[in-house]
Amino acid sequence: TLDFHPTGRHFLQIPGPSPVPDRILRAMSLPTIDHRGPEFAALGLKVLADIRKIFQTRQPVLIYPASGTGAWEAALANTMSPGDHVLMYETGHFASLWQKLAARLGLKTEVLSHPGADIWRHGVQASLIEERLKADAQHSIKAVCVVHNETSTGVTSNIAAVRKAIDAAKHPALLLVDTISGLASADYRHDEWGVDVSISGSQKGLMLPPGISFNAVSAKALEASRKATLPKAFWAWDEIIEMNKTGYWPSTPNTNLLYALSEACDMLLEHGLEAVFARHQRWGHGVRAAVKAWGLQIQCADPAVYSPVLTGVMMPEGVDADAVRKVIYERFDCSLGTGLGKVKGRMFRIGHLGDCNDLTLMAALAGCEMGLKLAGVKLAGSGVQAAMDHFSSHAAAVPQRK
Ligand code: PLP
Repeated sequence: TLDFHPTGRHFLQIPGPSPVPDRILRAMSLPTIDHRGPEFAALGLKVLADIRKIFQTRQPVLIYPASGTGAWEAALANTMSPGDHVLMYETGHFASLWQKLAARLGLKTEVLSHPGADIWRHGVQASLIEERLKADAQHSIKAVCVVHNETSTGVTSNIAAVRKAIDAAKHPALLLVDTISGLASADYRHDEWGVDVSISGSQKGLMLPPGISFNAVSAKALEASRKATLPKAFWAWDEIIEMNKTGYWPSTPNTNLLYALSEACDMLLEHGLEAVFARHQRWGHGVRAAVKAWGLQIQCADPAVYSPVLTGVMMPEGVDADAVRKVIYERFDCSLGTGLGKVKGRMFRIGHLGDCNDLTLMAALAGCEMGLKLAGVKLAGSGVQAAMDHFSSHAAAVPQRK
């Protein structure tokens, strides 16, 4: 038999899937209903209205029974034609995976990156995009694709600046943004930032299990989808948007995850998005205080774009980050994110999102500190003490209890 929870709760401290609150687990456990029946329409219309508030948009948001990768494909399949030229920006492993997916769809991908070494330690430099678009006098570039919160590194990118860069170049390319791990944790504004397609998933800031993902679309993206000729059937926006008008989907939706989404939106909107963003920023500060006190390097080299969702912790030369993670998992029942792609073994990731609070985060940091010491990593000081000092001297904008 599998014994997942010997005693107490497992600490799922990876940057998604994030821990799911009990309130959401209970909502999910309701019986599945007829997805063509009268009751369902009310649920469908509610979640479609709520999720727009989370994306901060008045435009349609599509909900797919798929992981984030499906929503990446949907964004491209709906807006692009075979051989279209897309400009992407490598901030980390997920940006690279998106590029591979675009290439497999038959798109011509061009990749920009931070100048010099350490390209995975910085966010998007919008001026490089502006320069490239200005040089594209023929307007052969059809889309600019960027990742808002690079989950592999803990680096965010300034999406409003990317929009400004596209406008400054007077270029008609669409702006496609992956906010799979940014939405509902880091500030994100689909309409205000002029994003054409925002892509997200359920298993991060929305605090849901994996299994649904999203495309928020602009009027310009919808217009492009009418002319785009990449093959699309399951992902096609038009049929889904038409049926969504009455609260239904063309194929079987993920009913129990929609119960969960409804509950998650209630929780996030009751708390207020501003308070949700402030809470994650504060956790990020606390965790970074710990990493600095340990004397370890943070993967993100630019404090202006530290992620409020996760922190990448770099290991000193000669230390295998996965060996440290193994000790922390086996001794203290805490899962940390592995290093992905070219930083495998060089760093681990601490997620600070989802069903989390100051004390659960303190416990996770205690697990990290004990595990680092057990694995033989020389620490400069106590990160636990530094994080306690941070949390006790910085009250949350909205208190846990009133
Ligand atoms: N993009 C980002 C930024 C991610 O963090 C992830 C998953 O962690 C993905 C894309 C891929 O999403 P999925 O694994 O849900 O298909």
